[in-house]
Amino acid sequence: MKQKCTSCNAEIAARENATKFLCPNCGKAEIIRCEKCRKLSNGYSCPVCGYEGP
Ligand SMILES: [Zn+2]
Ligand SMILES: [Zn+2]
Repeated sequence: MKQKCTSCNAEIAARENATKFLCPNCGKAEIIRCEKCRKLSNGYSCPVCGYEGP
């Protein structure tokens, strides 16, 4: 299954330095951020609880 960046919806390449973590608010959704969004500090919003983070 391909993973997509939670911020920009880009597919995550296998070798990419993306980060994955559980939502700090609800702990239910897995937030995935691609390398580009990490560098740009793009925000994300949790698909489960709507929490928005940097
Ligand atoms: Zn992204
Ligand atoms: Zn959440």
